[in-house]
Amino acid sequence: MRSALPRLAAAFACIFVISDAAAQTDGPTPLPMPPPIPAPQDKPYPGTIKLSVDATDTIRAIFRVHETIPVAGPGPFTLLYPKWLPGNHGPTGPIDKFAGLMIRAGGKTLAWTRDTVDVYAFHVDVPDGAKVLDLEFQFVSPVASNEGRIVMTPDMLDLQWNAVALYPAGYYSRQIMIEPSVRLPAGWQYGTALERASESGGVTTFKPVSFNTLVDSPMFAGRYFERVDLDPGAKAPVHLDIVADRPDELGITPAALQAHRNLVQQAYKVFGSHHYDHYDFLLGLSDVMSSIGLEHHRSSEDATVAKYFKDWDGTAASRSLLSHEFTHSWNGKFRRPADLWTANFNVPMRDSLLWVYEGQTTFWGEVLAARSGLWTKQQGLDAFAADAATYANRIGREWRPLQDTTNDPIASQRRPIPWRSWQRSEDYYFEGELVWIDADSLIREKTGGAKSLDDFARSFFGVDNGSYVTETYTFDDVVHALNAVLPYDWATFLSTRLNDIRPAPLDGITRGGYKLVYTDKPSDLGKSGERVRKTTDLLFSLGVIIDRTGALTEVMWDGPAFNAGATVGATIVAVNGVAYDGDLLKDAITDAKSSAQPIQLLLKRGDRYETISIPYHGGLRYPDLERLPDTPALLDALLAPKN
Ligand SMILES: [Zn+2]
Repeated sequence: MRSALPRLAAAFACIFVISDAAAQTDGPTPLPMPPPIPAPQDKPYPGTIKLSVDATDTIRAIFRVHETIPVAGPGPFTLLYPKWLPGNHGPTGPIDKFAGLMIRAGGKTLAWTRDTVDVYAFHVDVPDGAKVLDLEFQFVSPVASNEGRIVMTPDMLDLQWNAVALYPAGYYSRQIMIEPSVRLPAGWQYGTALERASESGGVTTFKPVSFNTLVDSPMFAGRYFERVDLDPGAKAPVHLDIVADRPDELGITPAALQAHRNLVQQAYKVFGSHHYDHYDFLLGLSDVMSSIGLEHHRSSEDATVAKYFKDWDGTAASRSLLSHEFTHSWNGKFRRPADLWTANFNVPMRDSLLWVYEGQTTFWGEVLAARSGLWTKQQGLDAFAADAATYANRIGREWRPLQDTTNDPIASQRRPIPWRSWQRSEDYYFEGELVWIDADSLIREKTGGAKSLDDFARSFFGVDNGSYVTETYTFDDVVHALNAVLPYDWATFLSTRLNDIRPAPLDGITRGGYKLVYTDKPSDLGKSGERVRKTTDLLFSLGVIIDRTGALTEVMWDGPAFNAGATVGATIVAVNGVAYDGDLLKDAITDAKSSAQPIQLLLKRGDRYETISIPYHGGLRYPDLERLPDTPALLDALLAPKN
């Protein structure tokens, strides 16, 4: 931090000089903006849209779409491509992959124009006598990972309906009815929360749903498919719909099946309700299709490592995915921040309460992973240790309050950033989790263990069993519900942790009976994380994370490697003069503990080679939680399964 500041100051000084010289009072004045897009009204759209998707071109990854939209009469008409996507919390609709738009009415091609302010809006003039607009277009999904998420492979696909549909402006999207159908490659099977109406000539047609429900009900389909019942005999069935790259990756072991079944029951024990009539985990096991975790009311998209079941012991780090996304059916979908809920998919979202939506879901995702046996209790503690260490060392907390990071889905949309530890990024997930661990242990301590955050979850998310009509909330509603569990100044508790520049919120760890320490060996979960992500994680020693090619994917601001001149994007070629590998670097860090010599790294960045010397002698350091003697183990109570 300190070493870079003088350079920054010099740059700003230059800008001030230029802008001073350029000041002037004459020059252009702005043109008026085009007329606004019709605002959504809460009234039924007349007629039912039909949407047909041909998803058989798995070689080119092209989804071909035919859509018929009834129209009430002639005149200007605006069609929207969904922009603000639920669960993305930002304007991430893949408009750059939308192609080939042809609009016809009564057999005649109509000219369309795109709005120059909102590029997700298309204007067309409906001619006299037209009853229906006939649309054809394609969603040309990425064929290389630098174009975006790979959603179609020769063996599986993830069909997100928002990517393959236009809808009329001027209506709440819950008021627009649509009948979807899909053609899949021959022999493929699918999972989705949509309900099938008919099947004919290789085309599956689903029962009409609102446009909201359509966007909320994606499909995973594949050549290799398995459907597993996670709650046999239940009135609201829960299934795992598994697609995999290869048939031998589908098989679920009895132990894994039991843990996933436990997850459903442990979630019911927390929330005391469910907000679906049936639920489908869409589980993609692939090294080809891009990973995803995306929540919906009655399903979730969960794409993770191909060996999820096959290497059950080695892939523990991927196992809080389903518990996280399942929690969202309650926290995020059913209960949603009032400023995040929007009338359709083209009205801007506001993300101020993501520390509840994502922070508390991260909390329950990890707690439920431990309670269900997807993780051991120790792996749950390992996750808390990693979280605590991350924020104890996150130097960006010196300038940026946690609350401000809720703007990141809009500001950054998960594009790569150079200095994560200084810039911060979506820290409301895991720093948010620490705030909720803090709240949980406080409730446990002050009620002598009688109450906990479970009571908050049941009263806040567990209302209206069976309903999946979203209920919104505000900051004050959260404070009110916490006060009903334990009378306390929760407004101050939360606002100081959200808005103040202050030390990391580790009180929950110590109140929970543990202390953050560092050891020279990674935890079981930490090791699994390196294996799943194919990285060497030296963040708390040298201050770097390295991918399998030797490239630095994170360099901690003001850490030993940073201060020697390392940056993200550089690749380690050699360690102390010997060709790089991860174990060699770990040995060099250990050897440097008892040596006065710095660690020498030969780095390649672009076409430049440079040797840097890192005078680091602290040895390997990995986070761990050490039990504080003679204190109640409140974290153990939190992670224990509920009877
Ligand atoms: Zn989430």
